[in-house]
Amino acid sequence: MKNDGVYSLALRKLRGSVVQILRRVLCVLLFISTTMLAQTNAAKFTVGTASAGPGEKVNGFIEVPAGADAGTRIPVTVIRGSKPGPVLALVSGAHGTEYTSIIALEHVIQHLEPSEISGTVIVVPLVNLESFHQKVPHVNPVDRKSMNRFYPGKLDGTQTERAAYLITKDVVEKCDYLIDLHGGDLDESLRPYSYWSKTGDVKMDATTKAMVLAFGLDHIIVVTDRPRDPDASRYLESTASTRGKPAITAEAGYSGTVETDDVNALVAGCANVMRYLKILPGDAKPVENPVWLTKVDTVSSDVDGIFYPLVKRGTYVEAGTKVGYVTDYFGKTISEKSAPVAGVVLYVCGVPSMKKGELMANIGEVGKPE
Ligand SMILES: [Zn+2]
Repeated sequence: MKNDGVYSLALRKLRGSVVQILRRVLCVLLFISTTMLAQTNAAKFTVGTASAGPGEKVNGFIEVPAGADAGTRIPVTVIRGSKPGPVLALVSGAHGTEYTSIIALEHVIQHLEPSEISGTVIVVPLVNLESFHQKVPHVNPVDRKSMNRFYPGKLDGTQTERAAYLITKDVVEKCDYLIDLHGGDLDESLRPYSYWSKTGDVKMDATTKAMVLAFGLDHIIVVTDRPRDPDASRYLESTASTRGKPAITAEAGYSGTVETDDVNALVAGCANVMRYLKILPGDAKPVENPVWLTKVDTVSSDVDGIFYPLVKRGTYVEAGTKVGYVTDYFGKTISEKSAPVAGVVLYVCGVPSMKKGELMANIGEVGKPE
């Protein structure tokens, strides 16, 4: 019995120390796994429901909850390189029938691989899903608002404003650089061009100028009147720039078409800006001798009627060149409009529908950027 007692005491001690060791091992294992999980989470880059670790390409949605009107969901892809680098956001489809820009970013989603890049590319190919599906130009059919005029948005607003709020929080605030893609809408016969917005911030303006030259479109509109107030930024581009993130806007495509040359111009432009930002390897060759357009003049109709254009997109006109005319519904000309200045026809109305006050054409005046 005595021996048994000693034995069982020794056994109990042994058991006790085994349990203690096991406890310690468990603690260490728990600590390691928690740390690893925390590290994994820290390494994830998340936009909406898309959460990508290094070397991953993940699709998801920015969920816009219902509010005063219906909710929506905005598709987003996060392409995360294995190597560190800046975060570039590529956005299109604020106007859901500017198809070329949307198809260009679909191409980027399909073909840009994490193994190629240093840093992260956020791709938001189609902001205005209802416009796309219902084929409604210019506005979000849910609330009749342009999805590039209500930034930085608000959570208690209509769908466009709620979407703008979430894009500001989830895309703009998480990126270092941004490119917003547009094009001629269903009723706009547009030649490709990009915008260089000067903010007055010398460093930012130098970066955006380099970005717009790297993008490569050979017609560049110089804009100096974009909002400077981050709380009233209106456009996506100025939402980024007023938050310290260099941003440019580029447009290609027209009248509902998806021409290969236009798609390629936008895809190549994004890739070349990625080279400039060192997200992609290789040299970013800037466009040589672009046509700088320092002022844009609008020719609008003063009557309702049927529009007949007399110029094509991209043509040079002199001051006084007839841009187009409007007839009544029986064919009688009731208005004729001319270019107020010499310049490039950036776009001309591409359909016969014409209402008083609406745009017949935009003429870009050639100048030199300051
Ligand atoms: Zn647009």
